[in-house]
This record gives sequence, C-alpha cells and structure tokens, in this order.
Amino acid sequence: MTIRLLAPDVSAKIAAGEVIERPASVAKELLENAIDAGASEISLEIAQGGRALIRIIDNGCGIAPDEAVTAFARHATSKLCSADDLYRIQTLGFRGEALASIASVSQLTMLTRTASEPLGTLLRYEGGELVRHEPSGCAVGTSITVENLFYNMPARLRFLRSDTTEAGHIARLIMSYALAFPDKRLTLINNGRQTLATLGTGQLYDALTSVYGLETAEQTMPIEAEVGADVHLSGYIGYPSLQRANRADLIFFVNRRWVTDSALSFAVIEAYRTLLPNGRYPLAVLMIDLPPDDVDVNIHPTKREVRFRRGRELFGIVQRTVRANLMSLHSLPAVETIEAPVPTFGSPRRSQSVWSTPAETVSQPEDAPRVPQPQWQELADAAGRLPMLRVLGQLAQTFIIAEGPGGLYLIDQHAAAERIRYEELRERHTTQLLTQELLDPLPLTFSASQIALLEGHLEELAEFGIELEPFGADSMLVRRIPVHMLHQELQPALLEMLDEAERQGSSFSWQEQALITLSCHTAVRAGSLLSLDEMRALVRQLELTDLPHSCPHGRPTMVHLSQAQLEREFARR
Ligand code: ADP
Ligand code: MG
Repeated sequence: MTIRLLAPDVSAKIAAGEVIERPASVAKELLENAIDAGASEISLEIAQGGRALIRIIDNGCGIAPDEAVTAFARHATSKLCSADDLYRIQTLGFRGEALASIASVSQLTMLTRTASEPLGTLLRYEGGELVRHEPSGCAVGTSITVENLFYNMPARLRFLRSDTTEAGHIARLIMSYALAFPDKRLTLINNGRQTLATLGTGQLYDALTSVYGLETAEQTMPIEAEVGADVHLSGYIGYPSLQRANRADLIFFVNRRWVTDSALSFAVIEAYRTLLPNGRYPLAVLMIDLPPDDVDVNIHPTKREVRFRRGRELFGIVQRTVRANLMSLHSLPAVETIEAPVPTFGSPRRSQSVWSTPAETVSQPEDAPRVPQPQWQELADAAGRLPMLRVLGQLAQTFIIAEGPGGLYLIDQHAAAERIRYEELRERHTTQLLTQELLDPLPLTFSASQIALLEGHLEELAEFGIELEPFGADSMLVRRIPVHMLHQELQPALLEMLDEAERQGSSFSWQEQALITLSCHTAVRAGSLLSLDEMRALVRQLELTDLPHSCPHGRPTMVHLSQAQLEREFARR
C-alpha cells in the first residue's frame, strides 16, 4: 500500500466530522463566535431542524474586509497567539476550525461589517469553495447563513434524526446559553415561529423565567459561594418539589463554557439525597468560575467536556453548597410560635415558626440576582414550612385529611411519620434508641454475598439497635432489635439495606440507610386507624421537621389542592 497525503478537501471533511456532528453543532460554534465577538443581541433562525437553514445574526465587532477570507482558513483564529495561551483560554472558541469546517459541509453566506468600515463584506462558500466575494452594505456585526448542511456528505445526512429532534437539540443549546449569558438578548426562531426570547437584563432569574417559564423559575432559589480566593460558584437550584425525569436540567457552565460532566451532575444529585424519589432529578443551573489554568478545555473536539485540576475538591464544594442551601430553606426565623403542647409521638425538638415572611425565606447573598417574592402560601407548597393545618379526618386508614389557609391537604400518614422518625433519630442519633433483646434469637438466611456485606458492618448496625451475629454459613442470628420494630419486618428491612448498598456502591452510607430503614419500619403504618388526637400530633410534628414535604425515601408526604383549584373543579371560576 502506498502512503499518500489526503487531498485538502478530504481532510477538511474529516476534520469537520469531528466538530460538526449535527445542526446543533453548527449552531453552537456560530453562537460561540457571536458571543466571543462581544455581541449583545444574537438571533438564531432555523428551518427543518437546521438541516435546510441555520441563520445567526449578531451585533458584535464584525470582521474587517481584509480578514474575512482568512477567518475561513483552517486554524485561523484571532483568539490565540501562542501555545501558552491554550492554558489560559478566556474565549469560547480558540481552535480556528469552526468556520472552515462548516463552510466545507454546507452552502454558507456571511455578511459582516466592523464599525469603522462604511461597507461590509459578503462571502459565499459552497462545499468549502469560495464562490462569491464582494463588498456589500450591511449593519455592523455578522450574519451567517448556513443552508443545506451536509448536502455533500450523504452519509452524515442519513445519521440525522427527525427535524423535531434536531430542533430540540438546538433549542436546548440556546436555552443553556441564555442562562449562561443573561446579559445578552437571545432569540430563537424555529420554522418561522419565535420560540425563545430573553430580555438581556443581566439577571439570571429573568433568563430562567424566559427559558423555563415563571412557574418553574418560582420554584428555584439562588445559590452563591466563594471558596478560597479563586473559586466562585453561583446559580439557581430547584426546590425539591421541582422534579425532572432525567438529568437534562442539570446545567453547568465552567468559566461560562457550557460543559457536561457526570461527576458534577453526581455531586448535585447527591446533595438532594432523601429529598427526591429514586429516578427523579433536580433542576440546577450552576456557574463555576475558576482560574483558567485550573481547567483544561482542550480535551474534546466539541469542547463540551473539560478536565479539572482539582476535581475532587470542586465536586465537594458543589455538593456541600447545594446541600447547605437546601437545608437553609427550612431554618426560618420565628415570627409566631406554636405554644400548644404536643401530645404523643415524642416531644418536639424546638418551638418553631409556622408562619414566615417570604422575604426571609430564601436567604439571599448580597448582589444576588433578583429573587421573586412568592406568596408565603406558594412558598410553603414549594418547599418551606407547612402552614398551620386543621385535621378533619382520616381516609382509608392511610391518609389524613386536613385544611389549611391554602386549601385542602391530604397527608400520607406513613410517609409523614417516617419523615418525623427520621429527623428524630438523626437528631438524637441513637443515644435514646430503645432496643429489646430477643428472648429467642431469630435466625435469618441470606446469600453468601449478603452475609459478607453484613459481616463487614455489624458495628454500624448495632449502633442503630440491630444486633446480628454470624450463624452458620448462610444465616445471621438476630439478638436485639429496636423497640418499635416488628420481628417479621427485620428481614425485609435488612434486604432493603443490602439492595441499596449494592445499588449505590462506594457512595453508600450504612448509617444514613440505617436511619432511613429504621424510620420506615418504626413509623406508623398505612392501614392503622388513628384517633383525631393522634393525627393532630402527627401533623404538628410534621410541621416541625426540616423537610416536611418528603419522606426520607424522597416520596411526597402530602398532596395539596388549593382553594383556587377546588373552585375551578366546581366551575366557580
Ligand atoms: P475560533 O472561534 O476558534 O477562533 P472560528 O473558525 O470559529 O475559530 O472563527 C475564526 C475567526 O473568525 C475567529 O477567531 C474570529 O476572529 C472570526 N469570527 C468568527 N465569527 C465571528 C463573528 N460572529 N463576529 C466577529 N468575528 C468572527
Ligand atoms: Mg469559533
């Protein structure tokens, strides 16, 4: 075989293949260029999922007539001068590949003008070949129209998904950039219809509202943390009531570059542990600013993945900050205190406010983006304290029916009792955990791997009132259990813990899981008849918990039907 150099048009297409996978890649590169050019207004128009047309118009610095053609040469960039610059990249682009690549796989027209030139430049490329080059009148800034993407690469064209899917990728891209650059006015027009427009006020909250709608934005809170001299974390995180079916709304920007990073996602998901049910994900938009030499952005052709120099430290910071903010939702200043004695179910940890003023509820860092002032009622629903509830009765021996200023509440008695038990046990830890020694030690059988797991953690389990002892090859002997636990529940409880241990692997905490399992198995069950007093006590105690809206497994403790909803149901409005 003879070794030959590839013809330039072939190598151009190969390189384009790495950067330009689909219409959204074109949109991303052009959008990044417009941002790098300092534009304050950027409009993106697409047709047929971007296959037929992608047009981006910006009011940035434009390109001088004598540089316009150079911009399309491979490795032509105004953003890097030396190899050293690669380690302190401040712009989104830096490889000088995008325009060359896009021009080689489409029909591209550029109109561009700088403020100092009376006339702009028009360029047209077809399959990488310059077919038109002339002066042309136009506004200051740049407009690039990409038509018939991949028209000369039928194989790539066949790999594209439906127009809706491709348009969806582009919409998500614009949404994310709108959040990273709230100071820019971004618009997206899809098949002639405007589908997104941000105001460019510079407030992240406004961008969040344009992107997700007011209802969702209202269920988020700002977070901000300064770590050391050089790490800055900011953004918005959703209340636990805002649940997503996948990770798509975990959005990260590192030095304003949109990145995907599974470790960062994991750090956020971990911070919501016990607040969301399994298989549900939070919404979080986080901006992480680090010194440019702490992050390598040059490891992936599309620049979507980055590498952190101090990754572990960073993930720890993210997890702790998010967690601390979620917890702060619930420690509110007292405005009015419950004085009524609380009957059974143990004693309340402290007297606490039931009412709170909304402004105090979300702790706002100084200079934080403007926070909406939701009605206290919505806020209570979304995440915070429960309002004072009046118990009306019990339904199916499972749900407590209650009335509050916000309408009707149905409380799952078991989930509520679990949340109460969980926080009680966590607070007092295990010092007051009552246990009973079994007169007839109970043998339980397990698989070999389960035995091995259990044997490694006998001490932690004993701390939580479960005393086990190896007994033959496939059994454990139970010597002691917590007082409220029924014998027949021990096996399922232990199996539940083992399942979780296997599922979560190294991030598993025996203590956390023991708490969850114990609170589940020692709490009032569904199907128990409760007296009015018992229900009142349960509701009062739920009001005192830190996180009254979910049980430790993350399931909701209650559903709320607002007065307005009820009125709508009865056609009163
Ligand atoms: P890179 O962004 O990596 O520098 P590109 O191929 O995307 O490479 O762009 C090449 C050059 O063209 C950029 O460095 C910039 O100088 C110029 N350029 C591209 N798009 C624009 C734009 N919208 N406004 C002004 N200049 C632009
Ligand atoms: Mg670029």
